[in-house]
Amino acid sequence: MRVLPAAFAAYEWAPSTAELARRTGLDPIEIVRFDANVPPQPPPSARPGTIASKLADLSSYPHGGYPELVHAIAAYAGVAAENVVLAAGADDLILLTARAFAGPGERVAVADDPTYPLYRIAAWLAGAEIGDDEPALTYCCRPNNPTGAVDELPPSRPLVVDEAYAEYAGESAVPLIEREDVVVLRTFSKAFGLAGARIGYALARAELAAELRARQNPAPISTLSAALALAALSEPPDVTPVVEERERLARAVRALGLRPLPSCASFLFVPHDDPHGLAETLLRSGIVVRAFEDGIRFSVRDETDDDLLLEALARALDRPVPVAPAGGRRARHLRATAETRLRVRLALDGAGRVHVVTGAGLYDHLLEQLAFHAGFDLVLEGVGDLETGPHHTAEDAALALGEALDRALGDRRGISRYGDARVPMDDALAEATVDLGGRAWARVDLERDPGLAVHVLGSLASAGRLAIHVRASGRDDHHVAEAAFKAVGRALRAATRLDRTGSSSTKGIT
Ligand code: PMP
Repeated sequence: MRVLPAAFAAYEWAPSTAELARRTGLDPIEIVRFDANVPPQPPPSARPGTIASKLADLSSYPHGGYPELVHAIAAYAGVAAENVVLAAGADDLILLTARAFAGPGERVAVADDPTYPLYRIAAWLAGAEIGDDEPALTYCCRPNNPTGAVDELPPSRPLVVDEAYAEYAGESAVPLIEREDVVVLRTFSKAFGLAGARIGYALARAELAAELRARQNPAPISTLSAALALAALSEPPDVTPVVEERERLARAVRALGLRPLPSCASFLFVPHDDPHGLAETLLRSGIVVRAFEDGIRFSVRDETDDDLLLEALARALDRPVPVAPAGGRRARHLRATAETRLRVRLALDGAGRVHVVTGAGLYDHLLEQLAFHAGFDLVLEGVGDLETGPHHTAEDAALALGEALDRALGDRRGISRYGDARVPMDDALAEATVDLGGRAWARVDLERDPGLAVHVLGSLASAGRLAIHVRASGRDDHHVAEAAFKAVGRALRAATRLDRTGSSSTKGIT
């Protein structure tokens, strides 16, 4: 093999969650990662249905050009399709641009230090050296990782501007691509929440884009990833809540006596004298941040998770916690038994962003339907002893959701309390009535049950202290169950609604 420069060091991943759990003695469910600058949830479009038809064609090669996706990206980025180069993440494009522009005996300049380490790695892999003297290529990370700064563009050309976090900054070098040797890199890993799908794209002048494409793997992304990206583009992310949350987090961090750098990205960099010591202390509470030489960097997740970070930071610094204990109509819940470990994050006033992954197949699907129709945001993830069948996992998922719902409802004052709904599904018709008064009761009459549907609804009712009356009939057991879960979801939507008249009971809450 060609010898790499002595300074070369391969990219190093942070330890896995399982490894961190082993090290800290915590359950993996208690580890919250703030070190990867990715959103806590995939987009609502990242659902099995999005890739189902692609799975049916998985034995065929894709058309590696992915014309439909390329056109959608072009429309999103405000360029023409001929300006777009698809790749397996921005990383793939960093490697591609380095080998396309630079080689042995040449220099690659890297603006900013510290910055994303892959530019140097890519230059070395291409056989080039790092240096500012007449560079064959310059890399600039904008906003810069890890500082979050949006600085002036370096004057040298050709220039690669890594805009992995562009959505959060609102600043872009895209207007330069037609006139100058400027290549802009973007990704679906950050604002779009699809890091696991590995999709990125470069934007460049048509001839430059064609040259880059010619130097690529013929089919650089999978059909599944392309489908996920295309679906995500039909509803591009609104980063406003992340930007607002970033500023709330920055204010709270300042209240702890720290000085976060101003950030235009989805993370904050906080200078500190002992970043590794601080990161190690936070890790003991399950909070994973990234330590650099002179500070720590952490992602903005969402209010619930970020408050955990703030509480752990306050404890580590021996300061009072700068935020009220997590409140609002949301809950984080951990249910760990001998058979299952389940983590729930639930927000009652959500947008139907639901994600249930326990491996319990149909019951994941049914709980997703219930939460979606309730208008909740729900992440319910974990593992169970599926080798014994889905019973424990499905039951505990329902119990965990019920417990989280109970917590999120708090003292249950001011809610509508009652809700009912009728939902048909082809041959099936379901009727559900819910009372959130606080006494658990379940009467669930399903003409057919695919197995555990009655039991799961009963578990939800008992853990959530709900009274539910459900009746559903039909010819197909899946339809009967699905209609029933949807009807319970719709009824919950009505019952959990805040009722300004506050007249939910004539004798107090029960
Ligand atoms: N560029 C920057 C600045 C990054 O921070 C990252 C990932 N952390 C990447 C590129 C890699 O992005 P992708 O997942 O698209 O390969």
